[in-house]
Amino acid sequence: MLRVEIDGKQIFITDSVLNIFYEFRQPDKRQGERGGVLLGQVTEDEHRILVSRASIPGNQDKASRFSFYRDRKMAQQIVEYEFHNSDGKNTYLGEWHTHPTNKASPSSQDVSMIADQLSNNHMKVGFILLFVLARENFFNCYSRLCHKNLT
Ligand SMILES: [Zn+2]
Repeated sequence: MLRVEIDGKQIFITDSVLNIFYEFRQPDKRQGERGGVLLGQVTEDEHRILVSRASIPGNQDKASRFSFYRDRKMAQQIVEYEFHNSDGKNTYLGEWHTHPTNKASPSSQDVSMIADQLSNNHMKVGFILLFVLARENFFNCYSRLCHKNLT
């Protein structure tokens, strides 16, 4: 379990999610970006967030070296499946994807994706998480605030 604190929020990431991150982060520069959705649980005050599920890349995802477009229909199915199979406890928290670099930082597209998700506002929680994974580090963004983790 990894714990990250951003802006007074405690974000806990389970080992099974970390294992998916380690497995899919790009070992080879020629491989495209990969990613998925994040699910888990949140306390009512949204101060403690448990990231307990990460979907793995799907066949319908369009991967290229510098961009990742998630298959929205498949992602929605995963979110609904998890929600029903956890008695409504596991909810959509955000996204993860890889960058084909040694060191990662959120791109301008990542920043605008966060802004889009927050303004579209069809989320059950008032924030979005984004994990950007590179080979040597990863960033964990809580809404617009990002925190660098060395792993
Ligand atoms: Zn990115």
